[in-house]
Parts: sequence; structure tokens; C-alpha cells
Amino acid sequence: MTIDPGQLSPATRLVGLGRPPRRPGASVNPALELTSTYVAGGDVVYARTGNPTWSAFEEVLGSLEGGQALAFASGMAAVSASMSLVPHGSIVVAPIHSYNGTGSLLDEAAEQGRFEVRRVDVCATDEILAAMRGAHLVWLESPTNPMLEVADLPTLLAAARDAGAISVVDNTFATPLLQQPIAMGADVVVHSATKFIAGHSDVLLGVAVTGRADLHGHLLRHRILHGAIPGPFETWLALRGIRTLQVRLDRSCAGAAELASRLADHPAVSRVRYPGFGGIVSIEVTGGPAHATRVEESVQVWLPATSLGGVESLIERRRRIPTEPTTVPQELLRLSVGMEDVNDLWRDLDAALRS
Ligand SMILES: *Cc1c(COP(=O)(O)O)cnc(C)c1O
Repeated sequence: MTIDPGQLSPATRLVGLGRPPRRPGASVNPALELTSTYVAGGDVVYARTGNPTWSAFEEVLGSLEGGQALAFASGMAAVSASMSLVPHGSIVVAPIHSYNGTGSLLDEAAEQGRFEVRRVDVCATDEILAAMRGAHLVWLESPTNPMLEVADLPTLLAAARDAGAISVVDNTFATPLLQQPIAMGADVVVHSATKFIAGHSDVLLGVAVTGRADLHGHLLRHRILHGAIPGPFETWLALRGIRTLQVRLDRSCAGAAELASRLADHPAVSRVRYPGFGGIVSIEVTGGPAHATRVEESVQVWLPATSLGGVESLIERRRRIPTEPTTVPQELLRLSVGMEDVNDLWRDLDAALRS
């Protein structure tokens, strides 16, 4: 594009960025570049250091989040790379409820004596501010998975900066269309691009974005030396997926809002967790964990599966996963609202809840 992409709305940048230069006869899509090495003398010498398909995807994500993006092999590869930004012996503030892989990685780091981890309730702003004293890394996720708690990101990110800590926000649930943490003061944003960004449950991919050149350099070096690189085809699929993020997210959010309001009056539902935005709703059922499992097994339109953010609606009793924190209720079902007709989703869920 010759016009400044910064003047265009995110929906337009999603579609227009990451394309080859506009020339008569040129392809409109970037090539899927399958090579392990390059002829000597150019900018890229070996494909663990760079690949043009990654660059195209990174151009889109970087523009949306307001920094420089790096694609990783999975969300966890981006999470792990971001945790390597602080040295051995660091104090880390992290949520009690977060993606369970993130929680497990921090537990492991604490057990090995690599980090001192201070777990906090993301809603308890004062408690978090107190925990930040002496901290080197502040890890935040908002809304949290699967409790859908919302953190006061502007306050917490400003405080992290004042405390001299590096801040990282896992923005997987909100996507850059609903929340841009770097503009609120975050140093790094991570995503499981496996979810809404790629959007079709057919690829694992991660991204880390930062506005700081020093952190970008560290993350890039980590990606190269730890080999946390994505496959070009996976990256190409995620780029294809992100083109439709705005329309998919709009539909997912509209469906989630509608279902959250209908579920609030459902006799078999004791609690609806819905932050007021986004495509995920968690519910607690009155009949306990056995009933929650029955709901998972009875649905016909919803798919009982882990993960979220795809075109198909997914339902999961999260405590099925052994590493899920015990503060997550046993009878909690996480719903990821996909692209199906909302009335079909409602009828299917309603019938399963009454089973
Ligand atoms: C799925 C997820 C991850 C991990 O991403 P993978 O792509 O599965 O490695 C990290 N954070 C959140 C919030 C997630 O939902």
C-alpha cells in the first residue's frame, strides 16, 4: 500500500496488508515459500532465521497490535519465548486463572527455582499493585481463560512500567480488534493464533508482538536459537484466516451476547460468565459436574472439544483437564461461539441442558 496503513481501520488492514507489491501480473497473495536455505548474498540466509510467508503474516499482526510481530510454532512457543525475557531468579506476577499451559509453565519454573511466582486474582487491582513490588515480569491475561475475569489493564500496565517490570498480555481471547494492550502500556502481547486469528481449527500458531526494539531482538534470537519457528504452511493458513477475522469475530460476539442473555434465564444454569464482549461464554450448570458432562455428551451442533475461536462452536468442561486450577468450578462449561445460526446453537444447548 502506498497510503499510510495507520489511517485505515483494522478491518481494512486485515485484508490489505501482507500482500506482494502491486504490479501487473503479480500474485495478490504471498507465496507459500517452502525452502530451508537461500542462495548466498541476500538478506535471509537460512530458513530458521526468516521466511517471507512469516513476514507477510507478521506485517498484519504487527500493524493491528501496534508493534513488531514474530510468528512462533504455537501459542505456547510465544508464551515460553516471552518468559525468557527475564533472567533466572526473577520475580513474576501472574494470574491465578490463566491459560493452563501458561500456569503449568510458571509452576515448573517455580519448582526449578527459575522464578519466584506471585499468583494474583486479575480483578484485585490493589492486590496486584502490591505484588508488583520488586517484580521483574508482570504476566496478564484478560479476559481470563476460562473464568472470563477482566483486569484493569491500563492501571496495571502503567504500574508495571513504574515498577520497572516487563509486562506481557495474553490477548488471545480479545484479539487486537477488541483490545490493543500495547497502546495501554504493555511491553509484549502474545497470542495463540491457533484460536480466533487463524479461526478454522486447522492450525497451531503463536505470535509475540512488541513495541520495544530490545525485546524484539531478544524474542527473535530466542526463536532462532530455540528453533521455535512456525511452518510456512501453518503461517500461510493463519494469514488466510486472519483476512476474515473482523466478520468472524462480529458474528461470534453477536452469538455470544445473545446466548449469554438467554442462558441467564435458564433453569439449569446457575451462573453465566460473560465479560460483555468477545466470543466466549462460560456457564455453571445446576446439576453439578455429572450434568455438565452429560451436556457435553448430548449436544449435536456444538462440538465437545477443547480450544476456541474457530468457525465451529465448541463446548468443554474445563476441569476435565487435570492441570486446570481447582478454583475453576467442576460444573463450568466453556462455550466458544462459532458461525452457526444462533437459534440452532440455542436449541441444541437448551435441549442438552434439559437432558
Ligand atoms: C490456547 C491458548 C494458549 C496456547 O496456545 P497454543 O497455540 O495451543 O500453543 C495460550 N493462551 C491462551 C489464552 C490460549 O487460549
